[in-house]
Amino acid sequence: MQNEMITVNCPACGKVVLWDELSPWRPFCSKRCQLIDLGEWAAEEKRIPSSGDMTDSDDWSEEER
Ligand SMILES: [Zn+2]
Repeated sequence: MQNEMITVNCPACGKVVLWDELSPWRPFCSKRCQLIDLGEWAAEEKRIPSSGDMTDSDDWSEEER
């Protein structure tokens, strides 16, 4: 029976995390690090500019009457 421990590095802080049921937040070392990572995702999403950046031309306002 192998008793090899699998460990990963927390993506948020780089801490070694035991890949085990004892680490419910894996691959993060803690809930805090998971939230940090999720927060970064949200921040990145907010940074994406909206597609409504087209110049609103007023050419059509000069209608023929
Ligand atoms: Zn961490």
